[in-house]
Amino acid sequence: MIRPYRHINSKFHKIQSFVNHLFLDVIFRAPYIANPTFDTSLVLSKYRPLLEAVNDEYLLHPLRECYKTCKNLSKKHLKILKRGVHQNNKIRILCNGNLTPLEYSDIDLIDENLSKQIKTFFDKLYDEAVNKAVFYNKYGKIEDYYKSIVGKSRTCRCCGINKVLIKFHSKRSALDHYLPRNHFPFTSINTNNLLPICDNCNSKYKLAENTIFEIIKRNSRIVSKTRKRAFFPFSKIVPFPRIDVEITLNRALSEDLEPADMNIKLKCQGYEEQIDTWDRLFGIKENYLVECCSEEMYSFYEEQYIADLNFGKTHQQYLDTLESNRLFDMNFLRIAYLKGLNNYSSNS
Ligand SMILES: [Zn+2]
Repeated sequence: MIRPYRHINSKFHKIQSFVNHLFLDVIFRAPYIANPTFDTSLVLSKYRPLLEAVNDEYLLHPLRECYKTCKNLSKKHLKILKRGVHQNNKIRILCNGNLTPLEYSDIDLIDENLSKQIKTFFDKLYDEAVNKAVFYNKYGKIEDYYKSIVGKSRTCRCCGINKVLIKFHSKRSALDHYLPRNHFPFTSINTNNLLPICDNCNSKYKLAENTIFEIIKRNSRIVSKTRKRAFFPFSKIVPFPRIDVEITLNRALSEDLEPADMNIKLKCQGYEEQIDTWDRLFGIKENYLVECCSEEMYSFYEEQYIADLNFGKTHQQYLDTLESNRLFDMNFLRIAYLKGLNNYSSNS
């Protein structure tokens, strides 16, 4: 996370109260409610139209199935599920590594059909229901939520190098479920978990990678699963931890420089684990090295840096200028690249 997002108070955020009401006040209290089956009379009147106006298969059917299963669950299991709703939505604390989330694999151990129905509900809520008029008239459109977060800022805050579509575009870039919804129930519409990122970060690198567990598989079997800390994308830490990129070259610069000719380190004191997670999720080192081998980086070197040096600017003055606006137009990466080139030529 090269820069955090600013959390916006949007109406979209309030869908979480609807979710909490359904699961905490009704579904996971099923044994204590007289009605033998689920129907919308069990729900607060302000939420009934939301359930009744969308396709039965999206929300009502999975809720009926969940209610039926929960009727016969033990107190202990219901407590685990309720705790899951609370814990899984504390995204900041989960990222900091101070809380254990509930995963679908945990619910499978309680009841596999319950796990499947909860997943259907949360997938359909995000993929289908929020795009229906009954939802967006109450909570606003997801496109508007996206636009309120990105504003006019073109650079992906996750990788810091690729572009995202902004509020003036008629289309939008991806909204990533930072804690992937395939692993973590109850989180699909949590606005602390929904971030605008570039398509490269979202659909080429991260995919459904588990943000807070590093999972090693051998022959498609899990051999280890390690809890990991991750940057919280909506962090309010000021200033946000500074990440330095360090590049070293194994050979002199030429137009045909390749990633294998360089080494890269990402440094952020006190946040080493978060840096590793960031790289694991988004292939940051690979992306940065590739960027340094691009035609654009080479022509930046020749046409801007060398040209300025020919006009009398020193290497250090050039770096200072980039440093004064280091997050603009991937200047932080250009600094690392120029330092790498300079160190190579002074050592050889
Ligand atoms: Zn990106």
